[in-house]
Amino acid sequence: MTTRGHLVVVGASQAGCGAAAALRGFGFDGDITVIGDEPHRPYTRPPLSKAVLVGAESEHSVFLSVPDDIQLRTGVTAVGLDRANNVVELADGERLRYDGLVIATGARARRPGNAVDSGQNTLRGLDDAVALRGQLASARDVALAGAGFLGLEIASAAAGLGKAVTVVDQVPPLVTRLGPMLADLVLTAAAEHGVRVKVAPAGVRIDNPGRLLAMDGSVLAEADLVVTAAGDVPNTEWLHGTGIELDGGVVIDSACRVAPDIVAAGDVASIRGRNGRAMRSPHWWNALSQAKIAAATLLGRESHDLVGSTPPFFWTEVFGLKIRMAGHLPPVGDPMIIDGSLAERRALLVWPADGPDNDFGTAVSVNVPISAPKLTKLAQQLPAHQRTR
Ligand SMILES: Cc1cc2nc3c(=O)[nH]c(=O)nc-3n(C[C@H](O)[C@H](O)[C@H](O)COP(=O)(O)OP(=O)(O)OC[C@H]3O[C@@H](n4cnc5c(N)ncnc54)[C@H](O)[C@@H]3O)c2cc1C
Repeated sequence: MTTRGHLVVVGASQAGCGAAAALRGFGFDGDITVIGDEPHRPYTRPPLSKAVLVGAESEHSVFLSVPDDIQLRTGVTAVGLDRANNVVELADGERLRYDGLVIATGARARRPGNAVDSGQNTLRGLDDAVALRGQLASARDVALAGAGFLGLEIASAAAGLGKAVTVVDQVPPLVTRLGPMLADLVLTAAAEHGVRVKVAPAGVRIDNPGRLLAMDGSVLAEADLVVTAAGDVPNTEWLHGTGIELDGGVVIDSACRVAPDIVAAGDVASIRGRNGRAMRSPHWWNALSQAKIAAATLLGRESHDLVGSTPPFFWTEVFGLKIRMAGHLPPVGDPMIIDGSLAERRALLVWPADGPDNDFGTAVSVNVPISAPKLTKLAQQLPAHQRTR
C-alpha cells in the first residue's frame, strides 16, 4: 500500500473531501492537496434546495469540516492534466505534481437552449441558493422548467413560502424514476400545495422576461421568477485531450479506477452497465461511497466494496413527503407493504428484484425514518418468488 508521496484531489466537495478523509482513514500519511474552484469552503448541497432555500437553516450550516492535515486550496481551477509528467495544470499557471490523482469535479447545472441569455436562474451551488432565496422573497409567482427531483424540491420550497408555482416538463414528472404509483403520490401532494404541473412533450422555451413557452409559442406559464432545473452536466472539459476516457462523464471501473494512478468518484464519474452504456449516478450517497472505494483503490488496498455491489440510495423531500429510495428504479409491479400505507403517507414498501438484469429489488420509505444501510438491506433481501401478486 502507498503511504507516502503527494496525492491530489481535484474537486472540493462531497466526493473530493470524502476521498481525502478516506485516504487518511486508510492510513495514508503523505501529503494530500484538495483543489476546488469555488471561493467557498467545501459544503454539502442537499440542504440548498430544502431548508436553506426556505430560510429554515442558515447557509452557514452546510460547510463540511476538512482536517488540518489536508491542504485545501479553494478558488483554484484545474485547467488541464499533463499525464506524462503527473502534473495537474492550474488556471494561474502553476503545475502541481501528483503521485496519485482523484478526479472529483462533479457536475454543473445544465442550461437548456436559450437559458443563459434569458436571465433565468438555476440551483447548483451555495451562491445560487442564497440568490434564489432572495428572489423568492419578493416573487409572487414562480415557474420551474424541469420537474425532476430538484425542480420539485424548489417548487415545494416556493409553494411553502406561499408563491403561486407552475412546473413544466417534457415528460410526466418522476414516472421514469419512481414508477407511476410513487409519482402519483408526489403529484397529488404537489396539487394539494397548489402547484400546477404541465407537460409539454415538444419541450419548453424560456422567453425573456418571465415566460415559459411551448415550442409552438403558446404560453405555459408567466411568472416574475423563472427557474430551470434541467439536469446536470459533468465537469470534464479540463480532461479533454488527456487520453482519459470520457463517455457521459469520466469512465471508471467498479473500483473507481481510471488509470493506474488515477481514480474518479461522484457526480463526474460514469460506469458502464451490462448494456455497455456508461451512466452516472449523481446522488449524495453515491458520491460518498465512491469516494471511499476510489481512495482504497488509489492506495492499492484490497476492497470488497465495489461500485454496484450495494444498492444505490438517495432521498428527496417534497410537499411534506420525505422519500428515501434504495435499489433499482423505477420499481416494477406491486410492492409488499412492510409498514403503514401510501394513503396515510407513511409507508415502508419493498419490491422484489425483477428480471435477470436487476441485481436488486427496491425499498422505499415515505415519512418513515430508516437509515440508508437498513433501507439498502431491505432492497437486497427479498427473493423474487416472494412477490405478493
Ligand atoms: C441543490 C441540490 C440538492 C441535492 N439534493 C440531494 C438529495 O436530496 N439527495 C441526494 O441523494 N442527492 C442530492 N443532490 C446531489 C448531491 O448533492 C451530489 O450528488 C453531490 O454533491 C455530488 O458530489 P461531488 O463531489 O461528486 O460533485 P459536486 O458536488 O458537483 O462537487 C464538485 C466540485 O468540484 C468543483 N470543480 C469542478 N471543476 C473543477 C475544476 N476544473 N477545478 C477545480 N474544481 C472544480 C466544483 O465547483 C464543485 O465544487 C443534490 C444536489 C443539488 C445541487
